Amino acid sequence: MTLRPDDHVVVVGAGLAGWTFCHEVRRRGYRGELTLVGDEPHEPYDRPPLSKQIAEGRWGLERTSLVTEERRAATPLTWRLGERAVELNAEVPFVTLNSGERLFATRVVVATGVRARQLPWRTPETVTLRRRDDAEHLNAILSGLGPDDVVTVIGAGFIGAEVATSVVKRGLRVRVLEASALPLAGVLGESVAESVVRWSASAGVRVDTGVSIVDISSENGYSEVLLADGERVRSRVVVAGVGAEPALEWVAGSGLALSQGVLVNEHFEARARVGALGDVARFPWRGEPTRLEHWQVAHDSAMTLAAWWASDEEIAPLVPYFWSDQYGHKVQVLGRPRPSATVHVVRGSLEESRLLALYEEAGLVSAVVGLDQPRALMLSRPLLATPTTVDEARRLAPWEA
Ligand SMILES: Cc1cc2nc3c(=O)[nH]c(=O)nc-3n(C[C@H](O)[C@H](O)[C@H](O)COP(=O)(O)OP(=O)(O)OC[C@H]3O[C@@H](n4cnc5c(N)ncnc54)[C@H](O)[C@@H]3O)c2cc1C
Repeated sequence: MTLRPDDHVVVVGAGLAGWTFCHEVRRRGYRGELTLVGDEPHEPYDRPPLSKQIAEGRWGLERTSLVTEERRAATPLTWRLGERAVELNAEVPFVTLNSGERLFATRVVVATGVRARQLPWRTPETVTLRRRDDAEHLNAILSGLGPDDVVTVIGAGFIGAEVATSVVKRGLRVRVLEASALPLAGVLGESVAESVVRWSASAGVRVDTGVSIVDISSENGYSEVLLADGERVRSRVVVAGVGAEPALEWVAGSGLALSQGVLVNEHFEARARVGALGDVARFPWRGEPTRLEHWQVAHDSAMTLAAWWASDEEIAPLVPYFWSDQYGHKVQVLGRPRPSATVHVVRGSLEESRLLALYEEAGLVSAVVGLDQPRALMLSRPLLATPTTVDEARRLAPWEA
């Protein structure tokens, strides 16, 4: 049912998804009460630059803000920043804050994202990178290092590779420790992952694969990472890029269907009057519940729910999109690649590490991956927006336009 002026929508999570939702319901004419709760003290900001321009030391943190004066003026709401939700009652509904205060609502949006997974060992030099404060802390450490200092990055996934890239751009030395035999193979499949790995080698970054860490200890301002083969890797800072977990504790007793995320329908509703957006939501993508930690998904999920609640309008289903900038190159992904998919390179080649590849599953294009092919990749979006066979895709060849 369309939102009315006597509604009160409480949005929990003042990140990209929560803020985009607030802006869009207002843009669509919702005039009722709107409250945005966020446990960080900061107004909504953009996370992708944290591992790129901010980690490189090129941008000040203020450039990451998502709240322009124009958007703020267009989005009147009650800000509850620096406050954490500890409970959701989805029946009434209400949200309980850490102060004990209850915010009674007519609708609630869960947009609490994910938090960085921590290593079992903590030392003063070990950091993760999820929040603005993490980025500020890491930046302060990196600024104090000299060319002989080594930065250890644990995990050669997207965040790890981006941090390693930024560290090198700052003129510092970096060593990357990766548990798997081939970074990103679990996402992109072996052949394309091998192409991506060549970028780190040509950038002169040492990536050790198949590494098993036994312990991390700290002494005199240095961390020592002990590897299973007995080697000790000593550095001034250890950046752990080992994945993330949905921030769901506060909805545990709410009765919402939880399974590695909040299960939602195509409108991003978890149940009547409760929505879930962004990194925390598991939405149906080609019939399968899917949770993706992608900027575009956070944005588009917010637009979808806002259109549904404020205007009763179904907008076109989102197409998952993700990008990563590493070692001076760009990986872009449309759809959902899986290592088990058959990979068809339709432009460029694996050897050049510059290509456009169609991923085929059950006879259909399930993903398109571009390595340094930004235009061709974007032109290929229609192949994911409607079910398309690989033969049809080759015939249409939208990437050639
Ligand atoms: C370093 C970094 C680089 C990235 N780079 C890329 C990239 O290149 N490409 C790409 O596609 N994606 C990238 N991403 C992912 C992208 O930023 C996320 O998909 C997006 O931020 C998700 O938005 P969200 O609103 O769902 O969650 P978030 O942005 O995480 O916002 C959730 C907010 O909710 C708050 N919160 C959590 N629990 C509570 C609670 N109980 N009460 C109140 N508030 C709470 C959190 O503190 C946070 O502020 C990157 C992410 C990071 C961290």
